[in-house]
Amino acid sequence: MTAAIPATMRAAVLHGGRDLRVEEVPTPSPGPGELLLEVTAVGVCGTDAAEWGNGPKLLPIEVRHPVTGHLGPLTMGHEFAGRVVAVGDGVDPAWIGRLAASCGAGPCGECDLCRIGRSNVCRRYAAVGLHRDGALARYVTAPAASCVDAGALGIDEHEAALVQPMSIAVHAARRSGVRSGDVAVVQGVGGIGAFLIHVLVDLGARVVAVDLDPGRLRLAAELGAALTVVGATATTADELVAAWGEELPVFFEVTGSQRGLDLAIEIVPMGTTIVAVGIAKAPAPVDLGRVTVREITLVGTNAMVRETDLDDAARLVAARAGRWDVVAPAPLPFERLVDGALAPIADGRPPAVKSLVLPPRP
Ligand SMILES: [Zn+2]
Ligand SMILES: [Zn+2]
Repeated sequence: MTAAIPATMRAAVLHGGRDLRVEEVPTPSPGPGELLLEVTAVGVCGTDAAEWGNGPKLLPIEVRHPVTGHLGPLTMGHEFAGRVVAVGDGVDPAWIGRLAASCGAGPCGECDLCRIGRSNVCRRYAAVGLHRDGALARYVTAPAASCVDAGALGIDEHEAALVQPMSIAVHAARRSGVRSGDVAVVQGVGGIGAFLIHVLVDLGARVVAVDLDPGRLRLAAELGAALTVVGATATTADELVAAWGEELPVFFEVTGSQRGLDLAIEIVPMGTTIVAVGIAKAPAPVDLGRVTVREITLVGTNAMVRETDLDDAARLVAARAGRWDVVAPAPLPFERLVDGALAPIADGRPPAVKSLVLPPRP
C-alpha cells in the first residue's frame, strides 16, 4: 500500500436489526486477484433495507459465513464503484487510477456450476457487502474479475454504482430467453424493474410496463416502454391480454407479491415463460396445476453471471450516461444513509427508484 492510504477509515457497520454504527475500522488490503477501491458511490437496495430493518437474515452477523468465515458486525454496501488505489497479487497494475464499477460477485471459479457458466449459483459463492465487508466506507476490496473499467466507457463516478443492479437486470433478461421483437411485460417498475426495461428495450423487445404508481409508469415510458398499464385495477388483466394479442409474451414479475404472481399465471397464454424476478418475502402458493397443463415455464433468477452479464451491464449504463437522474437522483451524503435511504425503503416508501449514497468524507 502507498503512504497516502490511511491505516483506518470510517465505515457503516451493521451490528443487528436497526443497529447501524459509523465506526473507525482498519482499511482493508487487497488480497490476491483483488482491487482496493476508494469508494465514489454506493447503491442502497431493498436487500440492504431488509437486513437493516428486519435482519440480519442474509448477512453473517449471527451465523458464520461458510466461505468467507465472516462472523459479526459487517460493513454494508454491495452496489458500488470506486477509484482503484492499489491492487493485490496477480492483478494488472494498469488498474490503478481507473474508475471501477463492481458487481460484487465472488464465485469460486472452480466448482461444477462455475465451470458450466453458472457462477452466480456457485457452490462456494461469497459477495462483497453481503458475505464480507462492503463499500459503505471510504475504501473497499473487490475481486478484479467482478469489476469493469467504467471510466473508459464514459460513465461517471456516481452512475458507475448502477452497473451492479443493471447486471441483475441483464441476467434476468438472459434467463428468460427473450428475443428482439418479443412482447416483454415488466410488472413492477422499481430498483430492478426500471433497469430491466432499459435492458429489454435495448434488446429490441416491445416492453409493456405495469405498476401501481403513475410516476413510475411515466419513468417506464421515458426508458422506452411502448405501453404502460396501471396495476391492480378492474381492467389491468384485460389491458395486458390486449397488449400481447396473438403473440406469446415473456412476463417478468418484479413485484415479488402473491397478487403479482397469481395474475401472471392466470392470464398468460399457454407456453409463456414467467420470470420471478422480485423476491417473495414469504412462501407463496402457486397454481401448479395451471402451470403444468398450460406448460408455463416458471423461471428463477439470482444475481448475475459476471463472466457474461457484467460487460453488458456496463455498456447499458454507458448508453444512457448522464441521464440516469430520473432513476437515481444525486447521491445522499453518507450521514443520511439511515434516515434518507435505509429507513424509508424498509418502511415501503422509497425516496427514489434507486438511492445512491456517497462514501464518508476523509
Ligand atoms: Zn442490491
Ligand atoms: Zn464455483
